[in-house]
Amino acid sequence: MLIFPSFDLPISPIQTIFHPTLEKVDIQLILKRDDLIHPSISGNKWRKMKYNLIEAHQQGFRQLITFGGAYSNHIYATASAGKVFGFETLGIIRGDELNPQSSPTLQYAAENGMQFKFVSRTAYRDKEEILRQLKQEDITLEKAYYLPEGGSNHLALKGLAELAQEIYRQTQPDYIVSAVGTGGTIAGILAASKAPTQVIGITALKGATSGLLNDIQNLLSENSTVDFTRFALLDAYHFGGYAKHTPVLLDFIRQLESYNPNLQLEQVYTGKMLYGIIDLAEKGYFKKRSQVVAVHTGGLQGRISEI
Ligand SMILES: *Cc1c(COP(=O)(O)O)cnc(C)c1O
Repeated sequence: MLIFPSFDLPISPIQTIFHPTLEKVDIQLILKRDDLIHPSISGNKWRKMKYNLIEAHQQGFRQLITFGGAYSNHIYATASAGKVFGFETLGIIRGDELNPQSSPTLQYAAENGMQFKFVSRTAYRDKEEILRQLKQEDITLEKAYYLPEGGSNHLALKGLAELAQEIYRQTQPDYIVSAVGTGGTIAGILAASKAPTQVIGITALKGATSGLLNDIQNLLSENSTVDFTRFALLDAYHFGGYAKHTPVLLDFIRQLESYNPNLQLEQVYTGKMLYGIIDLAEKGYFKKRSQVVAVHTGGLQGRISEI
């Protein structure tokens, strides 16, 4: 079937990363540059959205509805994808004290045509109820395609399988590493990875590991071939919790960027992941002379100016 507009964005390149620790311990670190997929629909948010957009397009949906916080990369990417691929977008935002000017993310989304509904933090927890009320208020919502918060669903796994396939075409990973928020990205990578590659998720949240493992298993429950013995979820690199950061982390990001041309990281996900990888390498976590492929999941819209 011919699809217009084309949902095929360019294949992202890989880049070998320099850091003195890697030289010392003889580990090769390769960054899969998914941040370069598109200036405003980048990284894992594009991977997760791609087959959802194709589905929405094929089913004749005109609008995308999704949920998120005022700084959400997913809200940003959804607004942008709506604009690029011709969907109206509605963002249901956590916090009824907010407005479209409350954050750069919301401002950008508004400029790209996203409509908002701001709901209280309590009401936000019951998304089914919010959707039910929306449908009562506006019958046209029947024509809206629903993307879950963070974009992690079964069709997201299909886009992430493409990420893994690209990596195997470009190189031979002993390890594939990604930052973890909702767990959807690492779940999709694990499902499409091949033995003996080890898959490692580094959480950006504090104290969420057991819940995340549950979510990951649920997302993969229909896929009986997933090999969890090749999987590790590490939570030692959250730097105080989601969206928290320290001077040590920011210094690390500045240093790694200065060593590697054309590289930008952010402090919520990718900076923490790479800090973790270097620390693990230093501690002898990886097999000697092995190759570690880390996914640059994007998120640069949230990079703070202090970096
Ligand atoms: C959303 C996001 C993640 C986390 O992805 P999950 O699939 O929710 O685990 C990681 N990195 C960046 C840059 C993100 O925007």
